[in-house]
Amino acid sequence: MDLQQFRAETRDWLDSNCPPSMRTRMVPGEDIAGGHKRRSTNPDAYVWLERMAERGWTVPTWPQEYGGAGLAKEEFLVLLDELQRIQARPPLGGMGVSMIGPTLLEYGTAAQKREHLPPIARGEVAWCQGYSEPGAGSDLAGLQSYAEDHGDHFILNGAKIWTSGANHADWMFCLVRTDRDVPKHEGISFVVFSMDSSGVSTRPIEMINGASPFCQTFFDNVRIPKSNLIGKLNHGWTVGKRLLQHERSGLAALASADTAGAMQRIKPALPMPELLRHYSAMLRSTDSRLRRDLIDIEMLRRSFVLTQQRAVQETEADTPGAATSIFKYVEANYVEAQLEAQLRIRGSQGVGWQGDAFTDEEIAMCRLWLEAKSISIAGGSNEVQLNIIAKRVLGLPD
Ligand SMILES: Cc1cc2nc3c(=O)[nH]c(=O)nc-3n(C[C@H](O)[C@H](O)[C@H](O)COP(=O)(O)OP(=O)(O)OC[C@H]3O[C@@H](n4cnc5c(N)ncnc54)[C@H](O)[C@@H]3O)c2cc1C
Repeated sequence: MDLQQFRAETRDWLDSNCPPSMRTRMVPGEDIAGGHKRRSTNPDAYVWLERMAERGWTVPTWPQEYGGAGLAKEEFLVLLDELQRIQARPPLGGMGVSMIGPTLLEYGTAAQKREHLPPIARGEVAWCQGYSEPGAGSDLAGLQSYAEDHGDHFILNGAKIWTSGANHADWMFCLVRTDRDVPKHEGISFVVFSMDSSGVSTRPIEMINGASPFCQTFFDNVRIPKSNLIGKLNHGWTVGKRLLQHERSGLAALASADTAGAMQRIKPALPMPELLRHYSAMLRSTDSRLRRDLIDIEMLRRSFVLTQQRAVQETEADTPGAATSIFKYVEANYVEAQLEAQLRIRGSQGVGWQGDAFTDEEIAMCRLWLEAKSISIAGGSNEVQLNIIAKRVLGLPD
């Protein structure tokens, strides 16, 4: 189909199928990350998900047999463009479409893809990521959770920490040690298992903003069939690193058809122009340094989005590489700078925790500002991204 025709048909279909309430900024609690344990509070979100999933457009470039639409990159970019035109919300987010799905496409067996990808594309399963441990964050390869070989299955013991959404997840993808007698990177395997498996338990951890988005996760003699091993035994470091590149990159999201991740990044939840309009009267009397900072942030945000789009158009590879760390680092910095700027504009009204002196929006913004402290840590800290850029992108000596 030629691209103009594809654009026209896409536009028509979106105009008649995207519910009006899905053409507004995302409201906390209304998103869908897969699974049934945490429900969206907006019923339209499910109508939108079902319609998009039926067309394969929750994961547009995945093959049709796995729930995608098999779109070529050019078609995918047109679809993104049309979704942005009507300010459509992502129909489906979460670690299924953005992390484990693309990783399974590359490393899964045919049976593993058939089992996991279609339910991910339909938003039926919520996934969580079992990587970090109390003694293994930046030094991830130091992880100690041990999966002992028992013939046709492993028995897993150990614990993970900071596991986002573990208490709502149906499945976990997990890095485990399967050989203790080799250099640390060479004794790790990548496995998946149901969070309902006997011996798996979770304990939520409260964050600085009062929410509990992540958990400690404990494994007590958890039985994992060997058919749940992704990639080869003891080659989990390669699979796990690839998944991190998907996690760290809006580019990855675009290139591997995670419209959800891509659109969230292209249309961030807190657009500066809106804020500027909102506070324009105040800004006229505000110091010129703040005005200049706000303009700098907005320019950085726009250049970031354009650079992402250009990178997708220029890249031949379907999978992301080490350069994704640049996107992760830049994005973390401008999002934090944006929230700091909002705080400066709001002054003391920006630090409301609770009580009648503050509006709901002011309280929500304060908590978001606190939560955003985590952006430079989650998915690998800023310092770790700079190390990767120095070594793997710039080729500087270790
Ligand atoms: C909101 C949030 C959600 C998360 N979700 C998940 C999840 O779902 N699953 C999961 O497995 N993990 C998750 N994490 C954990 C995250 O991946 C780790 O916190 C992160 O990798 C850092 O590890 P750490 O906390 O152990 O810090 P450490 O590794 O102890 O680092 C402490 C400090 O030392 C610095 N540092 C460490 N090593 C170096 C070095 N070599 N060079 C320079 N500086 C260095 C770091 O930058 C950091 O500032 C999440 C974290 C957050 C904040």
